[in-house]
Amino acid sequence: MNINKKRFLVLFLINILIVVHVVLWYKFGYQRIGSLSLNGIVSLFGIGLLNSAAAFFIFVTIMTAFFGRLFCGWGCHFAFFQECALKILNKLGIHPHIIHSKANVIQYVFLLKTLTAIGEFWLIYGIPHFHIGFGDSQVMTVDLPRNPIIIASFITFDAFLFIYLLGSRAFCRYVCPWAPMLAIFDNMSFWRIRKINACKGCMSCTKSCTMGIQVHQEIAQHNAVVNPNCIRCLACKNACQNNTLSYRWGLNAISITRRIKWLVPRHSDYSWYCDFLLIFCGLITAYYTQKWLGSFQTFLGAAWGLCFGIFIINILAKRYVPISETAQQKRRLLTVGLITLSSLGWCWVTTTSYDTRLLLRGNRFFDLMDYDKAIATYNQAINEFPLNHEIRAALALAYKQTGDYCRAATEYKYLINSNPDNAALHNNLGTVYYRNEQYDFAIEEYRKAIQLDDHLAAAYGNLGLVFLKKGNVKEAIPFLRKVFQNEEDMLNYILLLYSPNHEQTG
Ligand code: SF4
Ligand code: SF4
Ligand code: SF4
Repeated sequence: MNINKKRFLVLFLINILIVVHVVLWYKFGYQRIGSLSLNGIVSLFGIGLLNSAAAFFIFVTIMTAFFGRLFCGWGCHFAFFQECALKILNKLGIHPHIIHSKANVIQYVFLLKTLTAIGEFWLIYGIPHFHIGFGDSQVMTVDLPRNPIIIASFITFDAFLFIYLLGSRAFCRYVCPWAPMLAIFDNMSFWRIRKINACKGCMSCTKSCTMGIQVHQEIAQHNAVVNPNCIRCLACKNACQNNTLSYRWGLNAISITRRIKWLVPRHSDYSWYCDFLLIFCGLITAYYTQKWLGSFQTFLGAAWGLCFGIFIINILAKRYVPISETAQQKRRLLTVGLITLSSLGWCWVTTTSYDTRLLLRGNRFFDLMDYDKAIATYNQAINEFPLNHEIRAALALAYKQTGDYCRAATEYKYLINSNPDNAALHNNLGTVYYRNEQYDFAIEEYRKAIQLDDHLAAAYGNLGLVFLKKGNVKEAIPFLRKVFQNEEDMLNYILLLYSPNHEQTG
């Protein structure tokens, strides 16, 4: 079995392990080990949590500093889909040309965005206190795609279409934010593809390179491959019939001793305005996709944008002019267009919208009893989505928790104005009045709630409580009877309420 097949098998097994992990997590509740993702950098430096993802991040970066981007060549689950896509395209007789473009600066934007998430955590939670919690992390973050259509879109666009248009490992070369980060560590690595024998200049190594590196030039200049895009896949070594190449340790080609090499190609296959168009299309689509479909979908958006940009460039460059002239290419354009539109449409209607995500964020603060931040988040959400009643109800509840009963009442009244027949809202407003010791107003609201829904047990209980609070036990009892199963429990409740030092809230 040659090295490419071995590597493909390893990548396949990694995906099997991921499936096993997810099944164990969701089906059998085995949650001792959380997700293993490079996003661990955010857990680690954002909130100080050394969980499995953070440990994985540390492991991969240290490994990269010594051995180069072995992880990208042999350990990344998405590499499998990309290589699968290339194999299938090759089987169909399509051999995509590797296109280099400075549009890969998009990767740096995404990396920066990830790193700024750390800063955002600091702003929200303060400087992190480091702690260990391997079992605490979620197997998938809130934003990771669970919708099968989105996952299918990822594979279709970020693997197949992307590779079809930009060549092998297009996602790694244009979108993945971990590529530039790992490239920085790769600059330090000792283990590289090195020249150990004379080179005949046949260029087989360059033709076989998964990442489109000019291997023959690199070894001619440096006696080693120093391009930080090298993922140590060993395809070049495998392709060299002359045994010129070897993957081995050495000191002479540590790039950092000369200068750090970046991923942005010195020479682009496109003119500067095409690069600019690609960057614009990639970033603008990524931005709006993230805004509407969730942050992880940024990468899907970037792929959409870049594919769209390439189509425009190809049409402008007349390379694909036959699209309108040949039936076969017309079909191809139509198919791609339909897939794009249907995926966008489906994603649009099935995934969490931006207002809901803001609500979830506020709820997260609420659960942590950080009510001030919850209120600030809900208010931000209401400013953007003033008609979202769910957010306003959450805001009212947060005001109630902080003891700001006036504002809580204002929010509930606003909601009742829009929905006067909602019994639960009247009950909630009654509770705010009760807490603010406005017992008569509270009674009025609880009565309205019961009128609207005579099965609302909470309203009966609250009404009984407010009468007890007013010292009117006789009037409280009929309402309390609706809540308590037997008289004894009810009497115990009343006695407890009137016992010294007892504080009862509605
Ligand atoms: S660059 Fe990103 S997607 Fe590609 S192999 Fe590396 S980590 Fe995976
Ligand atoms: S395949 Fe081997 S001999 Fe040919 S150019 Fe590459 S390193 Fe040189
Ligand atoms: S230079 Fe060789 S090891 Fe590096 S990515 Fe290209 S083929 Fe793989």
